[in-house]
Amino acid sequence: MEKIESLETIRNKILSDMKCPLKDAAKNLVFGKGNPDANIMFIGEAPGAQEDELGIPFVGAAGKELDKLLRSINLTLDDVYIANILKYRPPENRDPAVDEIYRHTPYLIEQIKIIKPKIICTLGNYSTKFVLSEFNIPNMTKIQGITKLHGKVHHIVIDGMDFMVIPLYHPAAMLYNPNLRPILAKDFLEMEQVLKQKDLKAFGENI
Ligand code: URA
Repeated sequence: MEKIESLETIRNKILSDMKCPLKDAAKNLVFGKGNPDANIMFIGEAPGAQEDELGIPFVGAAGKELDKLLRSINLTLDDVYIANILKYRPPENRDPAVDEIYRHTPYLIEQIKIIKPKIICTLGNYSTKFVLSEFNIPNMTKIQGITKLHGKVHHIVIDGMDFMVIPLYHPAAMLYNPNLRPILAKDFLEMEQVLKQKDLKAFGENI
């Protein structure tokens, strides 16, 4: 099956099977967007109000910042694939609850298995801990915070999938804390070097 069809199957499974109070309260499913053949997948935390309104991840203020950061290394949101830990907006943009992470992440794992990215960039604490714990939710508490881990490259093999993980601060965090802006900019430049070294970025054609 083509990747697009496989992703559509997962999207429909969420719409038909998933049970979660967030789903009942939300306006729209926020599934994912971008290039299904991308080598790079970004994983955010949860949709905000604008994402809920449109059913598309990273269309609000954080998305604009992410877009600028990607453009700083000659990529756009269309060169990567983006999804979130939570598929529906939590009220008042509160942090994801553990039971919500259990309900929503099986679908994220399916997305990762379809996209098969070579690099996963996790945005913020929740996605970093979920991926670096190797999708083992009880172990998420054992993973250090983003302050310690950002910009460092990790190698992970899960279920035969082999990928690099680069944890990054969430772009929304730098909207509240401008001191994080140069740190994110630097981490993106380092990511660019990793992409070049691994020959994953012949800017455009390989992505
Ligand atoms: N923040 C996220 O983590 N995801 C979105 O889709 C939007 C904002």
